[in-house]
Amino acid sequence: MEEVRDVCRKNMSRQLNEINTENVKGYETLYNGLTKLWDKEILPGLDPVAVEAEKWYEINGCKFVAYLDLINKYKNREEILDWKIVKKKKSDNEVNSMLQLSFYSLITDINNTGICSLTKTKKPAIHMVRSYNTDEDKIWCITVIRDLLKGINMRYFPLCSTENYLCNEKYCEYWDRCRGKVVVKKENELNWSKKK
Ligand code: SF4
Repeated sequence: MEEVRDVCRKNMSRQLNEINTENVKGYETLYNGLTKLWDKEILPGLDPVAVEAEKWYEINGCKFVAYLDLINKYKNREEILDWKIVKKKKSDNEVNSMLQLSFYSLITDINNTGICSLTKTKKPAIHMVRSYNTDEDKIWCITVIRDLLKGINMRYFPLCSTENYLCNEKYCEYWDRCRGKVVVKKENELNWSKKK
């Protein structure tokens, strides 16, 4: 249990650092609030099987790796839980349609998954939503990945969603050549879209 707590704290700290690098006081308040809540509300209900498990999977000759925050035992069955620091808690619908969770199920054969939203509101909150991934969810996940690979094989690289935390000046090494250019092109692009 100690290991789960340490790893979760490390994970929270990393995610908070990614979103809150300048405001040290804000970071400390959030970190302390969330870890306290997590120790009280989540930790006692866990029965850990594996922490930060590394899993590899191959689709159409392309290798994928996933790091699972926690494989947990819940009601006599295994489940995969993921911790996310978010602005607003994930709803049941959002969690049920997450490709990330379908992918976890696909590569582990564990169909029960869940997202623990660690909400970075003024008063931090924690909210767990559990989900079940059907065979249809997993088949759709493979379909989406194959489609993506097809595009990449044809030298088409789709742009990231802005929700992806890696699409950021700090983390993306292609920033200057990609999204960073928008700052320069802004006026022209906006005029162009208005004319259409
Ligand atoms: S800035 Fe980087 S992460 Fe964002 S779309 Fe461009 S290449 Fe992808």
